[in-house]
Amino acid sequence: MKSEWIISDNSLNVEDLLKNESIFNVSNGYIGIRGNLEEGYPENYATIRGTYINAFYEEVPIQYGEKAYAFPENMQKIVNVTDAQNVNIIINGERFSLFEGTVKSLNRYLDMEAGCYVREIWWVSPLGKELKIKITRLASLKYLELFAINYEIEKVNFNEGIIIESEINGDVTNFTDESDPRLGTGHGNILSVKSMVAEKDIMQIVSETENSKKLVAVTTKHSCNVNYQAYLEKTDVKVKTIFKTEPGKEIINFTKYNVYTDSRRYKSLVSQGIDIVEKISRESFEKILDEQRDYLKEFWSLADINIEGDEKLQQGLRYNQFQLLQAVGKDAKSNITAKGLSGEGYEGHYFWDTEIYILPFFTLCYPELAKGLLKYRYTILDNARQRAREMGHKKGAAYPWRTIAGKECSSYFPAGTAQYHINGDIAYSYIQYYLATGDIDFIKEFGAEVVFETARIWIEIGHFHKGQFKIDAVTGPDEYTAIVNNNYYTNVMAKYNLKWASKLYYELMEKDTEMLKALCNKISLTEEEIQQFVCAYKLMYLPYDEELKINAQDDTFLSKAVWDFENTPKDKYPLLLNFHPLTIYRYQVLKQADTVLAHFLVEDDSDFETIKNSYDYYEKITTHDSSLSCAAYSIMASKIGYLEKAYEYFIETATLDLDNTHGNTKDGVHTANMGGTWMAIVYGFAGLRIKENYISLTPKLPKNWRLLEFKFLYKGACIQVNMEVHKTEITIQCDCPINLKVNNILYEIIESEKIEIVN
Ligand code: BGC
Repeated sequence: MKSEWIISDNSLNVEDLLKNESIFNVSNGYIGIRGNLEEGYPENYATIRGTYINAFYEEVPIQYGEKAYAFPENMQKIVNVTDAQNVNIIINGERFSLFEGTVKSLNRYLDMEAGCYVREIWWVSPLGKELKIKITRLASLKYLELFAINYEIEKVNFNEGIIIESEINGDVTNFTDESDPRLGTGHGNILSVKSMVAEKDIMQIVSETENSKKLVAVTTKHSCNVNYQAYLEKTDVKVKTIFKTEPGKEIINFTKYNVYTDSRRYKSLVSQGIDIVEKISRESFEKILDEQRDYLKEFWSLADINIEGDEKLQQGLRYNQFQLLQAVGKDAKSNITAKGLSGEGYEGHYFWDTEIYILPFFTLCYPELAKGLLKYRYTILDNARQRAREMGHKKGAAYPWRTIAGKECSSYFPAGTAQYHINGDIAYSYIQYYLATGDIDFIKEFGAEVVFETARIWIEIGHFHKGQFKIDAVTGPDEYTAIVNNNYYTNVMAKYNLKWASKLYYELMEKDTEMLKALCNKISLTEEEIQQFVCAYKLMYLPYDEELKINAQDDTFLSKAVWDFENTPKDKYPLLLNFHPLTIYRYQVLKQADTVLAHFLVEDDSDFETIKNSYDYYEKITTHDSSLSCAAYSIMASKIGYLEKAYEYFIETATLDLDNTHGNTKDGVHTANMGGTWMAIVYGFAGLRIKENYISLTPKLPKNWRLLEFKFLYKGACIQVNMEVHKTEITIQCDCPINLKVNNILYEIIESEKIEIVN
């Protein structure tokens, strides 16, 4: 086992327990299980015991003090489902626990090549019985319903039989915390047990959500290599199998196969759960592990980034990519939640995080998964249309700021519904996917409709004024500034959206008139409307301050007082937990990259001087209270040539969860930041940009590194970039011609070749 593929933490500090539950989650995009201890904790220890199914949610009413028109009535909330983690080992009445007896050694790690989480423990009971236990668990990437736990138990100094108790528990609640707006408030008890099976060797619990009556089943079966007697016990909410093994010296190998099925995906979740568990449990745990390793081998063969010169960062980088794979929804019902499936922060919602921070990785390394994420947005297009009507817009679609199944779930509109830029972000990600893959069929089937419908919203909320197109009353990415006129980021993204809507229209008119006609009929889109799009994007107003020579964040931002950073003690950050929003809104202070992010995404709308000046200006007043900030600053610091800064910001992103730098990893890992780590390398240090007819690179190796190697896919070609101190080698394997620009020199690649650039 090579240490750069391992994340390990052997401390049992109470303060780190919660964080490690998130860090050691095992997930596969469908189910996610926090790294709780199978055998549990002492009673007074805090734990968030959690198992989640992507997009399995409950509708709960939103309580408003004062409610206004078109405020969402309900919100969707991920459900903490039936707990299948519990396994207890008992020797003569003594229960195995890390908090009793003596732990002679503990080795706890996540293995990112094998895709499993392992605990190896050498334990002596209070009465002197010694056990060596290896516990391995995984959420299978091949069988998405499967959460398996394997125990290898060696009796070191005794022979007698032991008892293994394995339980599934329907007595589960969601985690709530009234004091943190990033967590759920109220609505803890939303799932209750509906029926249970304890028959032969099968345990099953079917539970139901309180209001919407969605069902979830966990069905469990075991295998054990030694002779045993087993019997089942049932309470109102739990089913338990008790295995009494016979005396003997051989190593006990015990596997618990838990299969999750839910009524959003399975018509007969009860019988399907049983069928699936019967089938999968015929496979040995070893085989399941081998299959997991094979899956990951393939994943890493393209996704891995190799850094020579910094082991800790290498680990952090791999961890972040691994978590993205664990988090990504693999059906069109699901996406990537802000915390993956590792915790309940932001209640299992999907945000713009996916499109702007995570999709680039999948688009360039795993286009099939990127397609799934994009398709998800198509599946909720009708909800977005409906939301647009609720908001008073006659045409188009207004995507929800945060959601699971498509309805707006934000109850705080100034930093929710007002973030119309999500429409532009979604359109942008479809276009970037198209430019990177050339997949016109996907655009015809899904993309064009999304791009047209999102574009329409800008005409609805914007207006022509003195020869310019302006957009009022929106909130940009920086949530410390709300409801402003002409947020630069929003206007730039709207411009991109409108421009591409018209481009696609004319491109499709040439390539597939029939298809275009049918789509225009379906959504009643006319050429006059397209002409309006053209007018609006050409006249789009992009705020610029002549004196500072920067893009102004919005019409009034630069005339506000600057926040008193000097007299704000460290413990007052994040500001959102310590000041009323209005106090924050009155000042020039940013939660996260806003204009700087826009300069990355749409760099051709500003010149280099404006980009640099803006970076210098906004950096000083950005708190990075949002985990989405540092990656954007790292990328832009690389572009501007501030390599040391770029490196510092990159370190922040690579270690954010492992070092718990935001102090809230206990609520789940930060997936947008994880995508941002990959971007800080590929878009930052290697300077990759996806342009209309080519891809471009401007490599700059950070000074501590000897080598940076990565791969990506572009229009069917596999491109490998090796950046060393004195040279960069780019190896292109392709069947069709592609265009590649390196340091501003265009290479027209006809067939596979290698380019060498001396730095
Ligand atoms: C950020 C948003 C982000 C959300 C979910 C907030 O703190 O300000 O930009 O979408 O977290 O990650």
